[in-house]
Parts: sequence; C-alpha cells; structure tokens
Amino acid sequence: MGFRKSTLGHLLSDASMEHKTSTGSMIMAGLCRHFDSAKIKLVVFKMSSGKKGEFSGEEVIAEFERLTRDAATVQRETLRRILDENAAVEYLQRLGLAGRTDPDAFRACVPLATHDDLEPYIRRVADGDASPVLTAKPITSISLSSGTTQGKRKYLPFNDDLFKAAMHVYRTSFAFRDRAYPVGGGGKALQFIYGSRQSTTKGGLTATTATTHLYLHEAFKSASRDFQLPCCSPDAVVFGPDFAESLYCHLLCGLLAADDVRTVYAVFGHNVVLALQALERAWEELCDDIRRGAPSPARVTDPAVRRAVSALLAAPDPALADEVARRCAALSGDGWYGAVPALWPNARYVHAIVTGSMEHYVKKLRHYAGGLPLVAMDYGASEGMVGANVDPEAPPESATFAVLPDIAYFEFIPLKIVNNIIDGEASSTDDDDATSRCSQAAEPVGLTEVTVGEHYEVVMTTFTGLYRYRLGDVVKVAGFYNSTPKLKFACRGVTLALCINVDKSTEQDVQVAVDGAAEILGAAEPERSSLEVVDYASHADVSSDPGHYVVFWELNGGEADDGVLQRCCDELDRGFVDAGYVSSRKTRAIGPLELRLLQRGTFRKVMHHYLSLGTPANQFKLPRCIARSNSGVLQILADNTIKAFFSAAYE
Ligand code: AMP
Repeated sequence: MGFRKSTLGHLLSDASMEHKTSTGSMIMAGLCRHFDSAKIKLVVFKMSSGKKGEFSGEEVIAEFERLTRDAATVQRETLRRILDENAAVEYLQRLGLAGRTDPDAFRACVPLATHDDLEPYIRRVADGDASPVLTAKPITSISLSSGTTQGKRKYLPFNDDLFKAAMHVYRTSFAFRDRAYPVGGGGKALQFIYGSRQSTTKGGLTATTATTHLYLHEAFKSASRDFQLPCCSPDAVVFGPDFAESLYCHLLCGLLAADDVRTVYAVFGHNVVLALQALERAWEELCDDIRRGAPSPARVTDPAVRRAVSALLAAPDPALADEVARRCAALSGDGWYGAVPALWPNARYVHAIVTGSMEHYVKKLRHYAGGLPLVAMDYGASEGMVGANVDPEAPPESATFAVLPDIAYFEFIPLKIVNNIIDGEASSTDDDDATSRCSQAAEPVGLTEVTVGEHYEVVMTTFTGLYRYRLGDVVKVAGFYNSTPKLKFACRGVTLALCINVDKSTEQDVQVAVDGAAEILGAAEPERSSLEVVDYASHADVSSDPGHYVVFWELNGGEADDGVLQRCCDELDRGFVDAGYVSSRKTRAIGPLELRLLQRGTFRKVMHHYLSLGTPANQFKLPRCIARSNSGVLQILADNTIKAFFSAAYE
C-alpha cells in the first residue's frame, strides 16, 4: 500500500529532469559553483558485463570468484604492474630497486613506511613538483583523511586507479548484497551523505576527502549506477554548506520520496543515528514544510539548497504531512522503535559502516531499524580500499571484508595477543600517549600467508605511490574466501590506547568496559528502559599522581540515580581487564577510575568542534581515547561535566 500518492508524480518527473540536465553526472550538475571539475580527468569505466551499461551481479560475482581462486598469483601480478609502471620514480630509484618487480626484491629494498616517512614526498607532489616523485602517472588530486584519530589531517595521493579500485569494491559488495536483498525495479536510496569543502594545494591540486573525489569523478554517475540507487536528495543538499541544514533536507527529501526508498545509507553508521535523532526533534517542522509546500526559512537558508528543495516540494501536500505526522506521533510514543520501516515502508536494509568504532551505534541502529537488516559497509581508507563485504547477511558483530587481490599489493604484520592486549611494533604517532614499548614485530607476511584467528596490521602498496605503507589498522583473519582472507576489523592502531604506566588498554577495551557497565544502567532502571549511553569517550588523566582513567558518558534522558551510576563506575573499573591495569589498580599505582556524566548534547558539540577544524561530516569518527594533546576536546568535556563518580571497585 502506498505511503504517498499525490506528490509522487511530480517528484519523479523532477528527478528525471535533473538527469536530463546533467551530462552523465547528476552530482556534477549541482556542483559547478563549488567545485572545479576541470581537474578531474574522464575515465571510461570498464563495466563488468559484456555490454556497456548493463550490470550483471552474477558476472561480478563470477569475476570475484576468478580473482580470489589464486589470489597469490593475482597479488604478484598486481605488484608487478605497480612496480613496472613506476620503475623510474624517485622514491623507488633511491632505494635501489632498479626496475625489479618481484616480491623478494621489493621487500629487500623497500622498507615499511608510515605516513610520516612518505609525507615529504606527498608534500612535494602537492606543492607542484611535476617530476615522477612517487608515481609515473600524475597524481590528479589530494585526499584528506578525517584526522579524527590522530588529530591532524593527512595528505594522500588520489588518482584514477584509486577511483577504479573503489568502484570495483563497491560493485562487488553490491552484487552479493543484491543477491541477498534485491532492490531492483527502480527506487531510491535515502543517503545521509555530505560533500566536503574543497581547497587547492600550493601546486594547484584539488584537495578534499576521498569520498568527495569519488562523487566528483566524472565517471562516478555511470559507474555507480551499477551499485547504487539514485539519492533522494538533490546534489545541492549533498554539497550544501551547512551540515545541520543538509541533514534536515535529507530527511525532508526522504519523507517526500517515502514509498520509493529502498535503502537507507550513510558512510558511517553514526550519521544514520544522528539523522534519526534529528528527526525525533524536528518531525513537526518537517511536516509543516510538507504541508506548506516550502522549506522552513529558519532551517534552510542557503539559496541553492532552498531552490533545490523547493523544487521537490513544489506544492502543499497536507495529506502526506498528516500521514507522516500520524506515524511520527505513534513512533514518538514508542521510543522511535522501528522508525525506518515505519517511515520508509519499502526499505530493504540499512547500509553503513557499523564495525570498528561504529560498533557502539549498532544497538541504536537496530532500534531504529526495527526488523530491517543492518548491512556492514566495505572496508577502506583514504589511502585505498581494502576489502568488500561479501557476506551481507552477517550481523555487524561478525562482519568481515574479503580482500580484493587486484586493487593493491597487501602485506600483513603479525601482532601478538599478550594478556588480551594486541602487541606489535607501534605504528601510530600520537606521540603524547604513545606506548611503543612493544616487542619486536615479526616479518610481514603476504596476503595468502595469513593465519585464521591471528591479528595483523595492514600494509599496502598502491597504484597511488604508497609503498609498503602501514595503514595503522589492526585486523583479525576470520577465514578465507577461496584463497583471499576475510578480515575482521579489530581496531585503529595499537598505540591509540589508554596508558598510565604498565597498563595498555585499546579502544576496543574501552568499548567492552562501557558495554558491560551500560548493561547495569539498563537493568537497574527497568522502568526507564530507554536510558542508555548515547556516546562515550575516555582519557588517561595524569595531571595528578597517581594517574587514573576517566570515562565520559552522555546519557539520553534526564539524570540516572546516583547509586546506579556509582555501580556503573565500579563496573567500568572492573571492565578493564588488562593485566597491567588490574595489577596497577591493586597496588594503587593507578587511581580509581572516574566516570564523568556529561550534559545532553556534549558529543554533538565535540563533533561540531571537529567540523569547525575542517573534519568532514561524512568522515567524522569520535575518537574513543582522547589524547592529552587534544586540549580543545578535553575542554569541551570538562565544561560540560555535570557529575563525577570515583570507583570503589578496588577498595
Ligand atoms: P579515513 O582515513 O578518514 O579515510 O578513515 C579510514 C579509516 O576508517 C580506516 O583506516 C579505518 O580505521 C576506518 N574504517 C574504514 N572502513 C571501516 C570499516 N568498514 N570498519 C571499521 N573501520 C573502518
């Protein structure tokens, strides 16, 4: 049964008009004001199916089968191609590779590298050095990493090969996803996505996020038709100047296209949660806009965004407004459980990154999704793509990513688990909190040489000039698809952890401790079963002696009972099971853990702090362990602390 009848017709005709006005790229049409597209070269993307324009999921899966059957050979060939193409580049020449392309020579001559090692070379490219510094082919633009983990945004090379690799991963996972949850026969995707600002480097290269580069690429529209339904929102909304305004408009466009929506998508799961929380607050205003046939002047101020959204609204639609209002009123009485299927009845699944630091939002996402599946999105970084989710039916907790052996050359540094702690040679450089007292790392192994159940740090050699580059992510090998490993994302870096003295707790340890303590919160206040930890962060406070762990909690409703929060605090303290922590707590070399309760909305302030520093909304990931050097965030947390509790767990 249709959710909306009266306005669907004009919506579809508006959308198709937009298709006509754009020359192969709807996104580009709305962007010319903001972006210089001339710098992005046209690439004719080779479709997987025989005929251009026809997508066959089964053919894509067959291609993936072929590639993964003998992944070792594909990897050798991929390395040969990278090194052959770049034999004359300065970086490899200096290391004496002398045109050799075999893995042994490569490993013997080229050392493992961190971003800091490659940064001077990338900087020269960004500054306009046109000689072959890292790659023979020109680097066409610069990607900016999110900078939410290490505080500063990294410059990374971007070119057409990286674009093709991303399309290859997305197409592959879509083929598997569509087999499990078909969304064919038209329809739209409600996408909570946000383009990022663009700047120009000294050398004239365009610098923005990797995701924005993808969206801006001239071949993106045609390539993405293979794996993506058209977005409900016009491009002016996606690339609008203000995050809150774009979010509001995404919701508005999604409600207007309610019947058409087949999937709900964001890059990071956090953005779906933010969107639905915004809906909880703004549904009455959204209904008013639909009823009036015009966007709220207070909410939507940018002229281009207003024009685009007004064109979709076109005429007052009281019938739709009443229907949306009726459903929202019912949902608000039910804690917004199942909001996605209630408002978008034809949606098949919610698709976003729900692994790693996004795991915390899974519970809330499940709540909003009702019975709809949460499908984990693929694994990659600004440096390059790593793996595709080829098991879309796996729940987020067990999602894995199958490495595509032809998109880059991969190596894996074995890491040891000692007393539940991942041990290896530290690669991250959050100097302030660095805990690089780790054991000698073992030699990296090749893609097909990894062992199921073991942890590794990912090392990539890419077509964009990153040679034996340590990505800084820790993965666990969950199994194999043919001969390529399926990776489970474990955590970001081994040094981004809480550490006072001999203790070492990872971001994952913080999450486990928080999840355990949050259970007490729910169980102790059953009559307020909706009381939950909206978000959290942690910090190793060494400003007094002995130092102690601080965990910051923002709860979703009112104030919890102090006695309950005290028990949560004790449980948090007990939840850190690292042997170094436990023994230091027993000997009082580490003081009692402190639980600080934050005002509602504090983490939104933290996010806006990052956005104001240039972190793109699409890429924002809240750092779970706040470094001592991150004074801006620590100040926000301090200013918004309502109450503090100290653990009595070790008394
Ligand atoms: P950025 O450098 O801003 O592009 O962020 C890339 C980082 O995000 C990766 O190195 C991972 O740490 C994280 N990431 C990307 N995809 C996933 C995923 N599917 N699951 C968990 N973490 C991810």
